[in-house]
Formats: sequence, C-alpha cells, structure tokens
Amino acid sequence: MSTPLNTEYPPKADLRNVSRPLPKVPPGTVNPASMDSSVIMMCAKSAVDVFNTALSSNDVDKLSACFYEQTYWRDIAALTSHLRTIYSSRVVASALLQTIILRGLEGKFELANDPSFAVMGPFMVLSTWVEDLIQYPENKQLLSLPGKDLSGDEVVTTDVLVIGAGASGLMTAAQVKSYGIESVVLDRNTNIGDNWAKRYDSLKFHVPTSNCEIPYIILIVSRRTMLQNIYSNTPKTSINVITSATIHTTVFNVTEKLWTVNIGIAGGKKAKTTRSKHIVQATGLGSGKPHLPSMKDEDLYKGLRLHSADYGNTQQLKERRVKTVAIVGSANTAFDVMRDCWEADLSMTMILPLEAADRLLNTFPSMLDGQFSHALFAHLASLEPERYRAFSEAGFPVLDSRDPSVNVLHRLFEHGGGHYIDVGGTELIAEGKVNVRGMVVPIEYTETGLPLSDNNFLEADAIVWCTGFTDKNVKETAKDLLGEAEELSGREDLLGREEISARLDASWGVDIEGEVRGVWKRHLQMENFWVIGGTLEHQRGLSRPMVQQIKLALKGILPPAYRHMPSEV
Ligand SMILES: Cc1cc2nc3c(=O)[nH]c(=O)nc-3n(C[C@H](O)[C@H](O)[C@H](O)COP(=O)(O)OP(=O)(O)OC[C@H]3O[C@@H](n4cnc5c(N)ncnc54)[C@H](O)[C@@H]3O)c2cc1C
Repeated sequence: MSTPLNTEYPPKADLRNVSRPLPKVPPGTVNPASMDSSVIMMCAKSAVDVFNTALSSNDVDKLSACFYEQTYWRDIAALTSHLRTIYSSRVVASALLQTIILRGLEGKFELANDPSFAVMGPFMVLSTWVEDLIQYPENKQLLSLPGKDLSGDEVVTTDVLVIGAGASGLMTAAQVKSYGIESVVLDRNTNIGDNWAKRYDSLKFHVPTSNCEIPYIILIVSRRTMLQNIYSNTPKTSINVITSATIHTTVFNVTEKLWTVNIGIAGGKKAKTTRSKHIVQATGLGSGKPHLPSMKDEDLYKGLRLHSADYGNTQQLKERRVKTVAIVGSANTAFDVMRDCWEADLSMTMILPLEAADRLLNTFPSMLDGQFSHALFAHLASLEPERYRAFSEAGFPVLDSRDPSVNVLHRLFEHGGGHYIDVGGTELIAEGKVNVRGMVVPIEYTETGLPLSDNNFLEADAIVWCTGFTDKNVKETAKDLLGEAEELSGREDLLGREEISARLDASWGVDIEGEVRGVWKRHLQMENFWVIGGTLEHQRGLSRPMVQQIKLALKGILPPAYRHMPSEV
C-alpha cells in the first residue's frame, strides 16, 4: 500500500459515525436460567462444530452463515498481525479464510473451558488474540535475572530501545525481558518516577483500581502509591534504565534495519550511543506537553499563572498570598485542583470552556464498546434524571448521557480526556460553594484577571490552567523526541529525524474500523518503530501483543500486517 508521506494515515474517523446499530434481540430469546450445564456444554460444542465444519469447507457462504449479519471480528495481532476490526458476516468470513491460508494455520477451534453460558445460533463478535508464543513462550523467571551494568559502555547494543520510563515504558521493558529480549530504557528525568513525582500532590486515578493493575508490577490508585509501588519495584525486575538522557540524533539504517541513537547524559557523564533493532516510543500520549492557550497580554497579568503540570499544591499558592483562584477546565484535573482549593479555604471560580461529560467507563471492538458504554450511561442517567440538575443549574454544562451524540469512548479516543469521572466534588458546585462560569472562554489577560467571552470579568490572584496536554500525535512528538536533524550525506539507506517522523502513522483518534490510530501496532511506512501509551488499561492489554510481535520480528518470522478489506460479495 503506498501513501504519500504528507498524507495523514490512517484517515481519522468519528467513532459515533462508524458504529453500526446493534441488532435487536427479541425479549425471551435468551434465558440462561432455563439451561442446565450439560445443555450449555452441548449448545456450545455444537456451535463450535458448525463453525469448524464451515471453516474447513473454505466456503464463504457456509462460514458467513455462522455469523450475524452485524458481526465484528476484532483481531489483536493474531491472524492479521495487526490491530483490526472487520465488520459484517461475509467480509469477516472472507477475511478469516484469507488470513488462515496466509498464516498456514491448521487445526480446529476448541472450547478452552466449560462455558458458563451459550446460545445456539450465529456469532456476533469474534475476538482473536495470541495467548502465548508456542515456540518462544513467556518466562517470567527471566525477570529476576540481573540487569546490565551500562555505566562504562559508550556504545550500548541491545534488541529494543525503549524511550520513556513511565508506566508504558517500564511495562514494555518487563514484558520484553520475560520474552528473553534485551532492552534499554531511556528517560530524560533524573529519577524513575519523576514523571509522577512532579505532578500535583492530590492527583488520584479516576478509574476503578482493577483498571490500574500493571503486569509484573503492582496496584496503583494515587500518585503516592504509584511512586511507592511501581517505581520502587522496578529494580526488582532489573530493567536497564538510563536516566537524565537527552537524545541528540536518531538514524535508522534501512538496509541493516538498525537504529543508532546518540544520547547526552546530564551530570557530566559520558555520552552514549545505542544500537538497537527496534525502538519503542513510550513518552506519554497527551501527558507531556502542556496545552496553555495563548492569549493577548500575558505579561500584563500580575498574579500567578500556571498550567496544572506545574501545580503542586495549595501551599504553593498561599506562599504567593493567593486568596482567589480561577481554575480553567472541566475535567479530572480541574476537579482535583478545585477540591484542593476548597480544602485550603481559597475562594475559587471554575471557568468551563469545554463541554463536560458526566461519567466514564476494553478485547471488544470499540464500535461495540462505545455503544455498550453509551447504553449503560444512558440507563444510569435515566435512573437518576435529577442527579446533576443542581450541578447543571449552578452553571456546569453537563452532557446528558441519554443524548445519542454523547459517547464517552469517543471523547477518550478523540480528545484523550476532557471528561470527568465523578468521584466527588460535583456537590461543591451544586451547593454553590464553588463558582462556575460555564461555556465561556477567557479572551485576554489584564493586570488583575481575565475578561471572558460573555463580557464578564473574572478577577483572580492565581490562574491554574487545567487544559490538558497537546502531545497526542506521535508524528509531531517524534520530531522533538528524536533529536536534531542529522546530515545524512545523501545516503538513501539512512533515515533521520525528519524522514522517520514523516513516515509514522498519525496517532490518536480512531480509523474507519474504530481502531485507535498509530499506537500499539505497526506503522504503514516505518518498520521497527512502535508506540505505546494511553491509559493504564490500554498499556496493560496491548503491550503484550506488541512485545510478542517484536519477538517474532527479532526471530525473522513476523508476517506482513494483513491490511486488506475483502469486498462484501
Ligand atoms: C493528570 C493526569 C491524570 C491521569 N489520570 C489517569 C487515570 O486516572 N487513569 C489512567 O489510566 N491514566 C491516567 N492518566 C494518563 C496517564 O498519563 C497514563 O495512564 C500513564 O501515566 C501514561 O504512562 P506513559 O508511560 O505512557 O506516559 P508517562 O507517564 O507520561 O511517562 C512518559 C515518560 O517518558 C519520558 N519522556 C518524555 N519525553 C522524553 C524524551 N524526549 N526523552 C526521554 N524521555 C522522555 C518522561 O520523562 C516520562 O518518564 C493521567 C494523566 C495525567 C497527566
């Protein structure tokens, strides 16, 4: 597939528009209560038998009859060697038969466990993934082997260079090690964990604790436990980490398939060069480059002006004699800062330039996940129609989950945030204890505050911009990350920073299949470069297939990604 380098690939889609309506199942069709376990087993076995017979017949008509018309096949780097969601019975059947032939697969589908629930009839979702590599299985005992002493080496040769020692990078390095692959992790910070240590004190995770578990490492719920657990456990897995590192230049040799990265190390230490077969970029997706809207006359303002990335706690504000605070933003961080200010008896006003979703909620196609989460939130909202009334009347622009255009997964994939998971704080607004100015934007600075788009003025001693981060497109961030542009002396076998970043897929947002773009999978035009990030849940679920593919690539047996979409006929 050839796509010009200056074309955004893959094209961006809107999850709400690419999702197809769910089929309606007549009430009473499914009654698990009426089935005993032997019937369940019989139904499941018979459905799998029909499926196997259709597969072995190599007949698209027979196989498509095993699926509902509205079938989704989500493949996580198993048959497609890519992340794909393929839709509709005939297309799924054709793609399945094609990939089975392409991969030379033999054998049958079997029931792995006793099913707890089964219904005769067509399948609606097929999810395929690789549990483990039979030839090269994961070995967690490798994690306890000592790391390398890199201190004296000026040239470090390794299989994989991971850039970024955050949760994604460390998780990837641990997973890589458990597959017997060597890696070195680089981070610009002085200490592992500084990315969290430097965030504001009250930061907590706004997702269920089960979403925060990290393979090989631990459970995180707050910034403090994140620091205590993950990072103090990292030495136990003996991951090779070089801290205080700045990348000077990056070059990929297309013929040798070799990355050469020149690194400066702060603190008077000798520079190093790494040579690796793969690079994994794990520098954060939308967590590194603060988004600070540029406005007129910022030097006029005499108060304290900071982005949430530079906010620590209210002590910082009190030392500057701050009594009134303007918090710009409506998502999780804004609520954390709001609560801090409330507990410190500071008077505050929240400016809500964005719409705000009311709540949030991954081996499922996101087209279905989006609809199910929408249906769940719509249902919850219908049970408590009054829950956010006072909050809304106080000026907070609440989105109603019953509205079909409100889809929290869409927001997450589109904006990488911008929502608030209600873990408390909304009552302060509903009770009028915190002022809000909804659906307005600050226009410029004055000496004492912010004129707003509704012609009002907000006076404040401090302004905390909880306006998120901009680094969501790897195409852009890679340019900064990979160091200076390198003089390549016209050699066509070498790619430098500009050529590499131009070849990367665009990232974040979804493609026409509802798959997140450019992350956790291969890029169309840049080999041996991987990107990992997203929420902890994404990192946890998708670092493993990514590492399995790296293992296969290192062994020279990773097949090309199946990017084809069979036609309906
Ligand atoms: C305020 C806030 C709250 C969040 N809350 C949640 C939540 O509740 N649940 C959830 O799942 N996710 C949450 N996230 C998303 C969160 O960013 C991820 O879950 C997780 O921290 C991302 O891990 P990461 O390793 O991909 O990126 P990061 O944690 O950002 O780590 C990236 C690492 O790369 C390093 N790095 C960056 N650039 C370079 C460079 N040029 N050279 C060398 N090293 C570099 C950084 O120093 C850092 O150590 C939150 C993010 C923020 C900012």
